[in-house]
Amino acid sequence: MLLKTTKTALLKGIDQVLSTYQVAALTKQDSRVLYNYVKTSHDIFWGCRPTVLPPKKFFFPPHETLLDYTADGQIIAKIESKPLVLFGIHPCDLRGIQILDEAFADLHGDPNYLERREKAIIIGLDCHQTCDQDSFCYKVGAHYAKTGYDIMLYPLKDDQYLVEVATDRGNVFAEQFLRAIKGEEKELEEYQQAKAKAFESLKPFKDLEKFPELFQENTHHPVWEHEGARCLSCGSCVMVCPTCYCFNVTDDWELNMRAGKRQRHWDACMLHDFTTVATGENFRPTATARLHHRINRKFNYLMKKHGQSVCVGCGRCVRACLADISPKTIAEAINGEDEKEWN
Ligand code: SF4
Ligand code: SF4
Repeated sequence: MLLKTTKTALLKGIDQVLSTYQVAALTKQDSRVLYNYVKTSHDIFWGCRPTVLPPKKFFFPPHETLLDYTADGQIIAKIESKPLVLFGIHPCDLRGIQILDEAFADLHGDPNYLERREKAIIIGLDCHQTCDQDSFCYKVGAHYAKTGYDIMLYPLKDDQYLVEVATDRGNVFAEQFLRAIKGEEKELEEYQQAKAKAFESLKPFKDLEKFPELFQENTHHPVWEHEGARCLSCGSCVMVCPTCYCFNVTDDWELNMRAGKRQRHWDACMLHDFTTVATGENFRPTATARLHHRINRKFNYLMKKHGQSVCVGCGRCVRACLADISPKTIAEAINGEDEKEWN
């Protein structure tokens, strides 16, 4: 269903929503833009600026308690979740959420992630330009969101928005909170044509669909040693990535040993100890091996599983990396798009 509304109507709708849901959106704090909970619709930052952390933190928080337990055998599973509206999510981050949805639903499923996700309404906000020089969403097609949202907003002139209602949940939500008129398909077509023109000169990766095979064949490409030698193994790239989801689980007993908590925390495959096992061996002991693993997760192993690049080109890891290591640079070396001599 396609609707059309104004920014004023959206602001009013969000203020109404706040009586029922928590609302999280892009917000401005000093010179930084970050995803945060808002108290009123006026806290929302409407522009297109990159954030350090992606919105995955609302579904998969950096630290959480999974269980409380006692020494006499009581176990209480804990899931902290409240109805949430995630507002103004840009296409690359919607792609990231879609990939995490698939990852956390896999096998027996992750109840904590899935319950939070189930209680969330996601409202996307399309963008028609890249947010800065480090983002490369267009290289992997992530400047377009196909799924991962309940409602998608397409900005038109004069603070007007086309509203694509994509799910039943989005429909119920729009009926309750959004004052809008019927939108015209022709207007959406015109919007998409203008967007395609704006991105015309920004080309996707050469041979993107063949990346799993290309990365498999290029395990010994000199770019790995070259970039691995510069890596500081700080793990920042993993911490900021919208599609990384490795975690560690620890049991933390109280000092009296009568009760404890099972906690999970984000972990990072780029850290040296991530692959250290109980006997002390480390099966990815070098920064090069860890970088190879991480980038192959994006463009090879998980790309085969998810049927799309698992790097969404948000550029967060590039901005965070003190050594200026970029998945884009590595991919362009592997696919021959960059003819630089890496030896
Ligand atoms: S690998 Fe880097 S650019 Fe790609 S999705 Fe993760 S943080 Fe974004
Ligand atoms: S942020 Fe850069 S230096 Fe740090 S682990 Fe990642 S690639 Fe290495």
